[in-house]
Amino acid sequence: MARERKLRKTLLHLTLRGLPELELFPTEQARTEALNEIGTEAGNPAQGSYWKAVAIFVFAVVSIVFIGRWVFAKIDWPTWLEDTLRGAAWLLTFVLVLRWLHRGGAQGELREKLLKNGVPVCLGCGYLLRGLASTTPRCPECGMEIDTRVRELLSAMDQPSREATAFPATQPLDQAH
Ligand SMILES: [Zn+2]
Repeated sequence: MARERKLRKTLLHLTLRGLPELELFPTEQARTEALNEIGTEAGNPAQGSYWKAVAIFVFAVVSIVFIGRWVFAKIDWPTWLEDTLRGAAWLLTFVLVLRWLHRGGAQGELREKLLKNGVPVCLGCGYLLRGLASTTPRCPECGMEIDTRVRELLSAMDQPSREATAFPATQPLDQAH
């Protein structure tokens, strides 16, 4: 049981390796916690993106059938070679699509977890929005409307700097010299 969980965790870390969202966590501990939570949530078909995933998968399968037919109509290789290539292509598509879906789903979850950790990222593309004014309407990277939770984080960050710049302006002019 414990070994199985450890294997799942290792696989998850391998699949998600290199995602830019992983670099944005404030601490190593926060990142590990987020990954562990995703590990237990992954593979839940009740999540909204399930049918989208199925549709993408069907599309990938149909595409590879047609591409395969087109390629094999042009060349004349022995049947065993064509069959081997077809099998390899199937396997590769399966692994790649699964990995891509998994990464895509996990990216969304990682962004949610970053928000919970107080890191303002765009939920659409993962771009770090730190330093932007809370009134910015859209993500400068992908154009998606900025989420209210991100806006709250940004305005909380705005506050101290606004007070700092407001101070000299409120000083009475006749006492300035
Ligand atoms: Zn964005």
